[in-house]
Amino acid sequence: MKKGKKLYEGKAKILYAAPEKGMAIQHFKDDATAFNNLKKSTIEGKGILNNRISEHILSSLNQIGIETHLIKRINMREQLIKLVEIIPIEFIVRNIATGSLSKRLGIEEGTVLEKPLLEFCYKSDSLGDPLIAREHIYTFNYCDEKTLDFITKQCFRVNDFLQGMFKAIEIKLVDFKLEFGRERKEESGSTVAKTLIADEISPDTCRLWDATTDKKLDKDLFRKDLGNLIEGYQEVARRLGILHEQSNISPIKFTKPTAVKIKKNK
Ligand code: 5GP
Repeated sequence: MKKGKKLYEGKAKILYAAPEKGMAIQHFKDDATAFNNLKKSTIEGKGILNNRISEHILSSLNQIGIETHLIKRINMREQLIKLVEIIPIEFIVRNIATGSLSKRLGIEEGTVLEKPLLEFCYKSDSLGDPLIAREHIYTFNYCDEKTLDFITKQCFRVNDFLQGMFKAIEIKLVDFKLEFGRERKEESGSTVAKTLIADEISPDTCRLWDATTDKKLDKDLFRKDLGNLIEGYQEVARRLGILHEQSNISPIKFTKPTAVKIKKNK
């Protein structure tokens, strides 16, 4: 599929125009960033794994009637998606306390929450994605009340579905981030808007812990230097049944070049 012009470049993905109106091509990069861009690296193979894992999760959601922007995966690094207007809020669902929740409120890491907690953060790199209340969303018109009620229900439905999906492969879904967008379509002379899950759902946007050992299988491997990120993401893909055992996406290690002695023929 022929890519059109670049529409947007984010930290981990690039969006290109697609040949058909109302669609776009989402390209997964190997770039990893953390702490609001203070920590950066390129991790070979990350984009391929996230493309595959996110395709698996979003298409499973599409199948159970939770609409997402995913149309189909096109190749190793790209997906065809519906072009949506992103709502400038990160919707964070938490089942176990860790990360910014533990830091902010002093809740002990690993505390299982009595029921899932939904938080809203305003999407702004320059402000560090600050936590906001429902009232901020209405006051500043980030999203209307009806849409926010719909999104709230979708967040908990996604959590129920994903918790089950990961539990079956012995992984705890600790927390995750969702983004939503508005798709506008002309239908019999008027514009109708639909709210869809956008962006990606992958180990970049979820915290995933091994159910027995609590070993981290997500982006915290990079954020906190806990181990090889690719091995963690591969483990998630392997357990989801979307990575063959013999698959070989691993960081390429270059050794120092050494001089080779060539014997001259006497
Ligand atoms: P925390 O607020 O504890 O840092 O993150 C909560 C959850 O949301 C984690 O699963 C984390 O990966 C995800 N999350 C929050 N903000 C972002 C973000 O800006 N980018 C990505 N990739 N994930 C985020």
